[in-house]
Amino acid sequence: MKIKITEVSPRDGLQNESKIVSTEEKLLFINKLMESGLEHIEVTSFVRKDRIPQLSDSNELSQLLTDDIKSKSSVLVPNLIGYENALKNGYKEIAIFTAASDSFTKKNINMSIKESIKSFEDISKRALIDGIRIRVYISTVLYCPYEGYINPSKVLETINLLENFLPYEISLGDTIGAGVPSDTEKLLNLLLNKYPSNLFAGHFHDTYGMAIANVAKSIELGIRSFDSSSGGLGGCPYAKGASGNLATEDLLYFLIKSGYETGVSLEKIISASNYIRKILNKDISSKTFQALIPKIEEN
Ligand code: MG
Repeated sequence: MKIKITEVSPRDGLQNESKIVSTEEKLLFINKLMESGLEHIEVTSFVRKDRIPQLSDSNELSQLLTDDIKSKSSVLVPNLIGYENALKNGYKEIAIFTAASDSFTKKNINMSIKESIKSFEDISKRALIDGIRIRVYISTVLYCPYEGYINPSKVLETINLLENFLPYEISLGDTIGAGVPSDTEKLLNLLLNKYPSNLFAGHFHDTYGMAIANVAKSIELGIRSFDSSSGGLGGCPYAKGASGNLATEDLLYFLIKSGYETGVSLEKIISASNYIRKILNKDISSKTFQALIPKIEEN
């Protein structure tokens, strides 16, 4: 059985890192990641340059990526200006962002959930005409840093608001990584009553070390697509010092050893993590990275 992996480190990972990585280093990092066989990667975001300095080189970076990598890439766009930039740079897929908690969207983008989705309507109309695929991130699907536990019905309501967008995939984010498999089960049982399982991807964070347990539960319930970040890059902006995104190494080790097909080389992902680790001058929290890096460096 094939499991799809969406690599999010160049965007979701790096945007949370304070040390600025140069465009050339990002290019090399992305090339190394794609050598592993990954079929989907989120490479950057077209936000206002002052918003996220780490991603302010999105135009320059995009000009350096090969068409092959671009055909496997998505880019995050916050508004129509970002969308135009994505289009101009030859991307065929964009990602937009909302959440299942009004406090979270209010604090982050100063809009309610409804307002945030309304703000994407122009993009969705254009994407339909331009033949651009849309991926939607919904954050805080299990817990919110401000509201605590999020009732699954709130997530369902949010998804219902997206019906005109025709997203090919909705990435369900446990943004603070607080969820356990029973939370994931309750959520998916409700969503899969109404929507097909291939509409969803799991985006788990490893703050409490629960990410793989949530992946395993999601697979059991029919989910075949997951987001992860090489080296677990990203940190967690809501819990200082805690690990952030599920590391691609940990996801791959789990999937490969469990007999699933991924098409991705674990060794090559670890090499990519090792490259970016040196640039960021940071430790990699992934257990699989720590276990395997001595062997890989030997060779
Ligand atoms: Mg994330």
